[in-house]
Amino acid sequence: MNVEIITVGDELLLGYTVDTNSSYIARQLGAAGFTVRYKTSVGDSLDAMEEAFQLALKRSHIVIVTGGLGPTDDDLTKRAIVKVFKRNLIFHEEILEDLRIRFAKRGLEMPAINQNQALLPQAAEFFPNKYGSAVGICIAEHGRVFISLPGVPLEMQQILDDEVVPYLERLKLNSSIHVATLRTTGIFESALAEKIKPGLRLEPGVRLAYLPGFSGVDLRVMASAADPEEGAQKAGKLVDYLERTVGKYIYGRDSETLEAIIGQLLGDNDKTLGVAESCTAGQLGMIITSVPGSSRYFFGGVLAYANDVKVNQLGVSPELLNEQGAVSEECAVAMAQGCRSLLGTDYALSITGIAGPEGGSNEKPVGTSYIGLASAHAARARLFNFGTERHAIRARASYAALEMLRREILDIK
Ligand code: AMP
Ligand code: MG
Repeated sequence: MNVEIITVGDELLLGYTVDTNSSYIARQLGAAGFTVRYKTSVGDSLDAMEEAFQLALKRSHIVIVTGGLGPTDDDLTKRAIVKVFKRNLIFHEEILEDLRIRFAKRGLEMPAINQNQALLPQAAEFFPNKYGSAVGICIAEHGRVFISLPGVPLEMQQILDDEVVPYLERLKLNSSIHVATLRTTGIFESALAEKIKPGLRLEPGVRLAYLPGFSGVDLRVMASAADPEEGAQKAGKLVDYLERTVGKYIYGRDSETLEAIIGQLLGDNDKTLGVAESCTAGQLGMIITSVPGSSRYFFGGVLAYANDVKVNQLGVSPELLNEQGAVSEECAVAMAQGCRSLLGTDYALSITGIAGPEGGSNEKPVGTSYIGLASAHAARARLFNFGTERHAIRARASYAALEMLRREILDIK
């Protein structure tokens, strides 16, 4: 079943808001085995919406719209739906009552304008919205499913994950595309392919995709078959092969993150972690603490951007800095050791590097980074080059540090 995504809003066409909704929807539906064929963006214009909806309903089985569901006059999506589907708007007392209760819980009186939010096209189903006032709307007719969701990303995501994906999965129970994602890190896409290719035999209907990102390369396995069991079995064979050939780079499956895996490893082993960050200046700590419950194992860190902080807080010796420089193996080791003893953790990670665009030299070009790791047993550092772009260098360095710790804990060489 083909999907078309339509995002609505002048702000998207003007370029002031980046359309993150359509990529989120595409990812979630892709993982659920649906194929997104078209993405369209239209402004807050009734005519443009009408045209886009008509075209989408002609060429796609499932149409998902985001945006334009608010209570104000600039939000026109519901009016466009009414025109395209030729249905009246019907008032739903239960939706309004729910809204009133939510306003009351926050000690607020509901503005009258919100009554609009309780109007839905005739014979439409609705999906509740946990975080906002606009419910999702679903109209199914003539073998087409048309779904309209609010534009606010958090609200859209909640309704999509909790309501829309399960709804669509029920629709396609008897079709069978099996998707599995193996998440790798610590190896380039091309190097990964070199290891995978020689022994790779793809059965008919099975595909393998390489999807690189800052935290690593995802291997997406997709198998289509006559029934779900056969799909799962075909995908399983390829997954087994990938685990045999590149297993040591695989840290997780599907939506598991490296930071969550690190959290499990530390938590399960009752170990604690601290960080000393120069070039990433807090990014590593931010990634680690994006995992709920990270306070169990993460103590904190030193944001050691200036040399003075490396010396005064982490105990890096001024002579070392003079002789080897702040971006050096020795400095990374000293930062990690200093951090570990300062915070009293089992492990400490350090990052020092040249994020650019200035500051590179022939000997140490932009991207040169050292990642240090100190534990009860040893302290060491590894040299990396994370490319030339500041944002990417800092992100890659943060994930490389996590990967170094993962390998240390699991004793992967
Ligand atoms: P709306 O439902 O059209 O009133 O949108 C509410 C807010 O959600 C807008 O102000 C945008 O900031 C945001 N938004 C709308 N559409 C998108 C989108 N496709 N991607 C990311 N944010 C969006
Ligand atoms: Mg809007």
